[in-house]
Amino acid sequence: MQIVERIKKLGIEYSTNEVMKNHTTFKIGGPVKCMVFPKTVHEIQMILEFVKKNKINFMTIGKGSNLLFDDAGYDGVIIKIADNYAKYHIEDNVIVVEAGISMNNLANILADKGLTGFEPLSGIPGTIGGAIMMNAGAYEAEISEFVEEVTLLDENNNVVVYACKDMQFSYRRSVLTNTKMIVLQVKLRFSKDLPSNIKKRIDEYSERRAARQPLEFGSAGSMFKRPTGYFAGKLIDDAGLRGFAINDAQVSEKHAGFIINKGNATFDDVMQLVKYVQKIVFDKFNVMLEQEVKVIKKDN
Ligand SMILES: Cc1cc2nc3c(=O)[nH]c(=O)nc-3n(C[C@H](O)[C@H](O)[C@H](O)COP(=O)(O)OP(=O)(O)OC[C@H]3O[C@@H](n4cnc5c(N)ncnc54)[C@H](O)[C@@H]3O)c2cc1C
Repeated sequence: MQIVERIKKLGIEYSTNEVMKNHTTFKIGGPVKCMVFPKTVHEIQMILEFVKKNKINFMTIGKGSNLLFDDAGYDGVIIKIADNYAKYHIEDNVIVVEAGISMNNLANILADKGLTGFEPLSGIPGTIGGAIMMNAGAYEAEISEFVEEVTLLDENNNVVVYACKDMQFSYRRSVLTNTKMIVLQVKLRFSKDLPSNIKKRIDEYSERRAARQPLEFGSAGSMFKRPTGYFAGKLIDDAGLRGFAINDAQVSEKHAGFIINKGNATFDDVMQLVKYVQKIVFDKFNVMLEQEVKVIKKDN
């Protein structure tokens, strides 16, 4: 029986007409065999059991804001954990959220409830699940600072709860890096402040982002990690590469750490540009830039 017919039988919302360019902020990426949109832990477990038993490639995504997919697409099942799985519950200073909630919605919920600390992270265009995987951070804050515990599906499809210390958070890494474990739920703790103060700070951070980042174009944010002792954007700028383009893939004029899609950039355009930037920066400054954006090929 075809994969799709079997997934249909599981009764989980799915689609077979998806292209990854419509599920990533880079707006790049080809067709995927099947995408599922689970609503419950049980549905996520069912789909995992199915793909593992049948040795089918799978990958979990959130908002696709840190991903570059191949134009050839993805030969497997994409488990999209986003708006369908985004409920939350608040008690005093603690909020428990499902992995699919967007950082933006979470920021607004916290502001309304007078919970502060999250404001610097409010403009990150992903989900809390993606943020936990990446230990996302901005303006001197990192999501790990607020984490009490994370509920995960481990590689054996068991629900497990990790305390913050067990998450092994470091710069853009966590215990999830290079695993296929899935974030289900996150418990976060914040301090109290007036909603009006919090909203004002969210607006300020949002203005700072809009002024410095090329939000008008597709991208996956900073293309490279921050090398110890340097800033990737500054190295790229100092190497004379600001604005340098290969077809529609361009080093942003506004922020040289971003590679943007000016409209019709392909996977190959971006990868060629990445390699070129890495080479020139290495030749000039002896620093090897490491990609922050995850590259996903057809058979990943
Ligand atoms: C304009 C722009 C600005 C950005 N600014 C920042 C910034 O300031 N700071 C920063 O850190 N990042 C930034 N990013 C990058 C990106 O938004 C973050 O890495 C974000 O945390 C990714 O979340 P996501 O839901 O989009 O994850 P995706 O891109 O969908 O996935 C990223 C990784 O997380 C995994 N993943 C996603 N959901 C789950 C889950 N539920 N369980 C297990 N694994 C999961 C995926 O498998 C993948 O490995 C920016 C991106 C853009 C486009």
